[in-house]
Amino acid sequence: MTGSHSWRIGGKLAGMKSTTIATLGDLRDGHYTVYAHCSRHSTMLDLDALIDRLGAGFVFYGNPNPLAARLRCERCGDRAMGIVVSPPHGRVG
Ligand SMILES: [Zn+2]
Repeated sequence: MTGSHSWRIGGKLAGMKSTTIATLGDLRDGHYTVYAHCSRHSTMLDLDALIDRLGAGFVFYGNPNPLAARLRCERCGDRAMGIVVSPPHGRVG
């Protein structure tokens, strides 16, 4: 190997760690936990299944929430779902 070609990653990754989480793929890679809840129930979402369905590039936040708009409570069929994203280190409750 001559080393004439070296791998270069844009200064973005080298300089500062990006913590922007925008897509389902980001959530899975970051080991985030995502809950969907209606007014009465709360369910942990299966990110792999979601990515299978919507794609890893699906942006999950916004107002109205695009992810919530795709979901429906599997217990009562409520379509007014809310999304809660928990970082891997932020164990709440
Ligand atoms: Zn429900």
